[in-house]
Amino acid sequence: MALDENSRLRYTMHMHKIHDTAVITSKETLQDHLVLTEEELAFDPSINSSLPLSIPSYFLNLIDPQNPDDPLRKQVVPSVNEQLPDLGAMKDPLAEVSHSVTERLIHRYPARVAFLTTDICPMYCRHCFRRRFTGTFQGPASEKQTEEAAQYVADHRQVTEILFTGGDVLTLSDSRLEQMIRAFRSKRPDLIIRICTRMPASYPMRITDGLITMLKQFDTAPFYLMTQFNHPKELTEQATGAVNRFVDAGIPAMNQTVLLSGVNDEVSVLEDLCNKLLFNRIKPYYLFQGDLVEGTAHFRVPLEKGLALEEELRKRLSGLAMPVYAIDLPNGGGKVPLSRAYLIGKNAENAWLFKTTEGEIRTYPDPLTQR
Ligand SMILES: *Cc1c(COP(=O)(O)O)cnc(C)c1O
Ligand code: SF4
Repeated sequence: MALDENSRLRYTMHMHKIHDTAVITSKETLQDHLVLTEEELAFDPSINSSLPLSIPSYFLNLIDPQNPDDPLRKQVVPSVNEQLPDLGAMKDPLAEVSHSVTERLIHRYPARVAFLTTDICPMYCRHCFRRRFTGTFQGPASEKQTEEAAQYVADHRQVTEILFTGGDVLTLSDSRLEQMIRAFRSKRPDLIIRICTRMPASYPMRITDGLITMLKQFDTAPFYLMTQFNHPKELTEQATGAVNRFVDAGIPAMNQTVLLSGVNDEVSVLEDLCNKLLFNRIKPYYLFQGDLVEGTAHFRVPLEKGLALEEELRKRLSGLAMPVYAIDLPNGGGKVPLSRAYLIGKNAENAWLFKTTEGEIRTYPDPLTQR
């Protein structure tokens, strides 16, 4: 969807409270802060399918302007790499469109659904896997779209959890979010709601006492906060403070990290990230292998390297600090865990053969009566 610069700005400014902070939305203003590299300069924002540029000044200030390879910069400053041909990549590799049961509701797994609350984000991550939808300026789900989705969930009792995703759900105002929660919980008081948001990383000031108070009135089922921190530098005092507000209110926090080349594909970085998350009461939940989404090839880490990182992390991290390394398989295959094989097979005596994390061999026989 083509939109002129004015409507883009209007949408960005529309966001709750963000009008009192600066948001960088053009290459020209970005150049006041950073000396752009050749690849960054070559990005052409007029190409229709491109993800918009938006960086809150809070996040921009975390970037080291002297370092063209800054891990935060890589995530938010557009580069021509997004616009190079990407063989084998797709617009919608997870087949979300064909799994949509209403305009904004995706039902791919039996017990959980994902609701696209809005396509708007305060900050557009260049690795975003939902680029077919994100930043297309369609705006928040309408009352009708919300009602349809709520009715679907009411009619499908096997659905126990809903993901409020997008886009970033916390770009909605508190009152709009309240209406949305009420639409679902009035029909399904038992529905677990996951608030999937990058706001604690991108614009932590959005998480106010007012938001938490609003959420607390819905006490018939739990909320879970699903964050996305990709690098330890994102865990500022403001960011962890924002998450603390949820956790203090009884809303557990889980983090989903995207494995990104040149950002966090180093064991020491991931180790530090996971330990800092855990220390701040955020459970490392998933570490995602990059999806085959057009325009993100330069971020994808070869699977062999990912497996080696997972193996080393498993040795270094506690069980609580260890995320599940997972891949969302193309053509809507769904998520599966990725790990080196520890279970090798069976030996001649029909006992299971295992490899330990140190590479030694152990056997484990089933009970004799049940072989
Ligand atoms: C990832 C995802 C979920 C949630 O999966 P979990 O493994 O439970 O975190 C639900 N619906 C869709 C469409 C998803 O992509
Ligand atoms: S916040 Fe989420 S939806 Fe928005 S651009 Fe980043 S990854 Fe995509």
